[in-house]
Amino acid sequence: MNQHIHCIVSDCYYYASGNKCTANEILVATDNFGAVQPDQVDATMAKQYNPQPAGSCMETCCKTYVAKGSNKITADKVTKMS
Ligand code: SF4
Repeated sequence: MNQHIHCIVSDCYYYASGNKCTANEILVATDNFGAVQPDQVDATMAKQYNPQPAGSCMETCCKTYVAKGSNKITADKVTKMS
């Protein structure tokens, strides 16, 4: 699958100019899931989680987000595409 993930969250480590996401994989989750799971819970472990309904786009989040300059960049084991 040749996906293009567009994103406008400019302070994310994976954000690139042109509003592109450079993460090699991401995990989109419900806000409820994102609020209680640690940084290590991310795309690399996605297959083991049960799907959940969100209800609206306002109740979803990108679990892969990490702030630029953060010391948590490697916590999720997601890498940037070259
Ligand atoms: S990891 Fe998520 S928040 Fe960060 S650039 Fe990609 S889609 Fe946007």
